Amino acid sequence: MRFSALKILAEGLTGNKGWTAHWRDPQPKPEYDIVIIGGGGHGLSCAHYLAKEHGITNVAVLEKGYLGGGNVGRNTTIVRANYGLSGNSEFYSHSLKLWEGLEQDLNYNVMLSQRGIINLCHSDGQRDAFIRRGNAMVNQGDDAIFLTPDALQKMLPFLDYEQSRFPIFGGLYHPRGGTARHDAVAWGYARGASSRGVDLIQQCEVTGIDVSEGKVTGVQTTRGPIRAKKVAMMGAGRSSQLAEMAGMRLPVESHVLQAFVTEGLKPCIDHVISYGAGHFYISQSDKGGLVFGGDLDMYASYAARGNLPMVEHVAEAGMTLMPMIGKAKMLRSWGGIMDMSSDGSPIIDRTHIDGLHVSCGWCYGGFKAVPAGGHVMAHLLATGQHHPAAAKFRLDRFRSGRGIMDEEATGSQHNLH
Ligand SMILES: Cc1cc2nc3c(=O)[nH]c(=O)nc-3n(C[C@H](O)[C@H](O)[C@H](O)COP(=O)(O)OP(=O)(O)OC[C@H]3O[C@@H](n4cnc5c(N)ncnc54)[C@H](O)[C@@H]3O)c2cc1C
Repeated sequence: MRFSALKILAEGLTGNKGWTAHWRDPQPKPEYDIVIIGGGGHGLSCAHYLAKEHGITNVAVLEKGYLGGGNVGRNTTIVRANYGLSGNSEFYSHSLKLWEGLEQDLNYNVMLSQRGIINLCHSDGQRDAFIRRGNAMVNQGDDAIFLTPDALQKMLPFLDYEQSRFPIFGGLYHPRGGTARHDAVAWGYARGASSRGVDLIQQCEVTGIDVSEGKVTGVQTTRGPIRAKKVAMMGAGRSSQLAEMAGMRLPVESHVLQAFVTEGLKPCIDHVISYGAGHFYISQSDKGGLVFGGDLDMYASYAARGNLPMVEHVAEAGMTLMPMIGKAKMLRSWGGIMDMSSDGSPIIDRTHIDGLHVSCGWCYGGFKAVPAGGHVMAHLLATGQHHPAAAKFRLDRFRSGRGIMDEEATGSQHNLH
């Protein structure tokens, strides 16, 4: 079934009886060429590109809950290509280009809204660093404009420019950045993969990874054993637990990240704004809610829920930046489990076990990486070669120390910044 304006009109006139399920609900087969663990954004995107670009369809995505019930449906939906370091810069640039063609590719409305992102800076040193980053973005072929305080005041008159704690020195504007509807991204990729023959199997938790003579041979699941020639661990916040099933220890820690939304308001915030010094960022959803968040909870946990100290911290930061936000009523908060790598950059690689692959370390920025993360992992699984856009995301950089990508210059323990 293809979506089109004509189809919507025809269905509207005939009682909406012709819509079909977006994906099939198959029983697991005893064996697949490739098993992907995790039906989040990355797992579903990888399955879609394996089928579409490499013609590999004897693939299963195993999801312990329901498709899109993990972080892909819990994030604050920001999409951007504003990284400075070589390695990240090429990868996120590749991802943004895929985002820009995604709705046509999937025949699905993911509500990509390139409303622009503005990162505020609050000191001379930070302004220099942002200008350097902007130059790196432009050299990569992406867009970046440095806004002076005067230019910024015209665009964002509601910010408190005179606050004594972190006065605003300017902002790095990335016009092609923005937001996308997170659930729709998962559903669109699921539909794309399923329609090409990939089996998406929900309520199927992987409980063990079978390895024989240094080679992966399949997985144990709550719905029985499944043999596989290749296995890709794409479990985001649960990556360490998956790796442990194969006797591996990954350089990632799992931490909670929370987000918040207010009641629906008339349009008042046109961009995505980040206030790094205060640990706060905000945008307005299409329903009118102000969607905002802050930093990690700063202790390792698998509890995907919020807590009051972080509510207070983030609300205080929001009030400092834009005091008028205090009039809005907060409706909900929630949490998700982040797979924090120790340099803040992802890992997409083979492991020392033949046929076993890993994609993890997405930290708090893996939503914007969903198109490219799946695309490059599909390339690696299908060809055995690293895609050029992800050539630096090697697992062994943490052992050798070579090629560490410390984007925020926060040292080797990123989750403590
Ligand atoms: C509050 C919050 C705000 C965020 N904001 C942004 C943002 O604005 N922009 C951005 O780019 N990123 C953001 N992120 C990060 C982003 O959401 C994640 O990095 C990204 O979604 C992780 O990849 P994924 O979609 O594949 O993960 P998930 O959706 O979590 O997918 C992993 C899946 O694996 C499954 N799984 C795990 N273990 C097993 C098992 N044993 N067997 C079977 N299945 C298993 C899980 O159930 C899950 O569905 C945010 C995250 C949070 C929590």
